[in-house]
Amino acid sequence: MTSPVLVVGGGVAGLGAAVLLARAGVACEVLEAGSRVGGLLDPVWFEGVPCDRGSHRVHADAVPLLFELTRDARWSERPRRGVLVLGGRHLPYPLAPWSFARALGARTTTRMAMGWAMRPRRFERFRAWERDRGASGDDEGFEDFVLSRVGEAAYARFYRPYVEKVWGLDPSQLSRSVARQRVSTASPLAALWHARTTALRPATYRYPEGGAGALIDSLRAACERAGVVIRTGVTVDQRSLRAMPHERVIHTGHLRDMTGSRALTHRGLYLVHVALPPGTLDDTDTWYVPDARYWFGRVSQPARFSPSLRASHADVLAVEIPEGRWGEGRDFTRDADTVMAQLRDAGIVPRGARCEAMAQTWIADVYPMYVRGWGAVWARELDAVRALGRVFPAGRQGLFLHCNMDHALRIAADAVEHLCAGGSASAWIDRCARYLDLRVRD
Ligand SMILES: Cc1cc2nc3c(=O)[nH]c(=O)nc-3n(C[C@H](O)[C@H](O)[C@H](O)COP(=O)(O)OP(=O)(O)OC[C@H]3O[C@@H](n4cnc5c(N)ncnc54)[C@H](O)[C@@H]3O)c2cc1C
Repeated sequence: MTSPVLVVGGGVAGLGAAVLLARAGVACEVLEAGSRVGGLLDPVWFEGVPCDRGSHRVHADAVPLLFELTRDARWSERPRRGVLVLGGRHLPYPLAPWSFARALGARTTTRMAMGWAMRPRRFERFRAWERDRGASGDDEGFEDFVLSRVGEAAYARFYRPYVEKVWGLDPSQLSRSVARQRVSTASPLAALWHARTTALRPATYRYPEGGAGALIDSLRAACERAGVVIRTGVTVDQRSLRAMPHERVIHTGHLRDMTGSRALTHRGLYLVHVALPPGTLDDTDTWYVPDARYWFGRVSQPARFSPSLRASHADVLAVEIPEGRWGEGRDFTRDADTVMAQLRDAGIVPRGARCEAMAQTWIADVYPMYVRGWGAVWARELDAVRALGRVFPAGRQGLFLHCNMDHALRIAADAVEHLCAGGSASAWIDRCARYLDLRVRD
């Protein structure tokens, strides 16, 4: 007999939804397009280690449901050892205002302060940063939005190169919502602004002992215990979705597979793993590299997230190179010498360190293309989902979000709660706009 509820997608959101449905006594089945469940939390094996798809960590103040549902993944709290590579210096990250000013030097700091001080309505606008970054209404665009708040010098130094590196677009084409979801957590200037709160908290994070993939193992085991059937290798496209016999569908797969439209697109990420001789690297867990000189935006060291991710015979680095202007077909392992030269130049690996092995993984659909005016397109897409009558979009891909794993799970849990309370798909879709305000925690 067909379960009354179908869950599309076997990432943290889909598996979490299935566990919660089972807890509520609602039978469901999960269909996953990939050959394995896990989505963005499915590990990439390199040198015998199940590496995350780029640096993954969870803040201690993340949605508690994540910890509750994955208790047997053995969470531990670890000290943060982040480094911001800025102007040739290595600064502890998250940043303190004093180290930021020291790294930039007196001249640049003064220029940035002057640039900011020359902006009209500067106090009012900078303070309004958090309040009025929404995607709705007229989208003045990323460039105008940021320029009017931080001034020309800071914009040219940090924000413009960051956008070009990640999205491969001129910042004037990008929506101001990018500033809301990403840049505020990735930019030194915003870090300065938020330093008053972060400085008061010890820099720690939470991490499952066996890597982020252990969370999926934990959720999958909970599904199995609850009798949830999971089928892999099944892509639910717009046509098959219509033909599905289920009364209701929680869809954590791609929004485009619900509507058949390609109006909203993403940029992907190249994940390049590098093996170095053991003992090459220091104890940094993650290096943040906004500088446009380097291809990578972030580099991490899995062994520092959990000792169980240590390769016995090598130090392993995960190098994240945003798709940017490259497109999808680039093979960075052919440019191993350049990647290594950049890692040395950025001070991440010592001079003379040699690469023993390199492998590349392409990760599609990482950065939603929040181009100007995307909010209206998003609303139209969700109306197309509404027309299907029984589909509850959720998760990161289902709502075209750039969000953390606990956010993705929370959204799925909200959808389950709504569905179990007898709420309609249309009423759920009305609620979804609130998730556009989620703030990515780095
Ligand atoms: C580089 C990187 C670093 C990150 N760092 C962090 C971090 O430090 N902390 C944090 O909390 N979060 C982090 N995240 C975000 C986190 O990985 C995601 O928020 C979370 O994994 C999203 O889960 P999801 O289930 O919504 O989506 P996904 O993991 O994308 O899962 C969706 C699943 O649905 C399947 N699917 C899609 N379409 C269909 C279809 N039509 N039919 C059937 N199946 C389909 C996919 O194959 C996939 O398995 C990071 C993400 C990236 C890429």
